[in-house]
Amino acid sequence: MAYSQPALPYAENALEPHISANTLGFHYGKHHATYIKKYNDAVAGTPLDDQSIEEVILAAAENPEKAGLFNNGAQAWNHSFYWNSLSPNGGGKPTGQIAEKIDADFGGYDAFKSELANAAATQFGSGWAWLVLDDGTLKVVKTANAQTPLTSGKYPLLTIDVWEHAYYLDYQNRRPDYVAAVIDELLNWEFASQNFLNAQV
Ligand code: MN
Repeated sequence: MAYSQPALPYAENALEPHISANTLGFHYGKHHATYIKKYNDAVAGTPLDDQSIEEVILAAAENPEKAGLFNNGAQAWNHSFYWNSLSPNGGGKPTGQIAEKIDADFGGYDAFKSELANAAATQFGSGWAWLVLDDGTLKVVKTANAQTPLTSGKYPLLTIDVWEHAYYLDYQNRRPDYVAAVIDELLNWEFASQNFLNAQV
């Protein structure tokens, strides 16, 4: 079925000065919108058309002939998840159950933070860095291009887009500075906490 682009959960200038309205205008308005249009064009009229985008992503991931459908579907989904992973009031150290789980699984927030920053900085080329729940354990993983933890049965809690289009207008080649700003100022721990609770139901 056609996938509709969700509204941005904040104004295009709400993440400034860390991510500019100019970046979000292109990223949400052009890049994400194009992935969705290509996904909808590719799925329309096929036997997968009655399934959710998550089901289509899993089915297409198994089939090399569906690479285009997978890439556009996964990029459509990953970006919707990324907008929710950011908040004008985000960043810094979380509180509550997820903070306790981070302490237990990473040995503290600082160790988690450096692992996430390192994954985001070292993903070679385009991709994503994620906080996931994997079989009951919090982990940091990175994925290349459109790849998503959904296909390996991991439950995503937060993501950082490290494709150049996510930061180049604001940071040029300084990907680590963009990642540090996202971690310190924008990560939406309310969203992560809700995902963490949902994953345990
Ligand atoms: Mn992107």
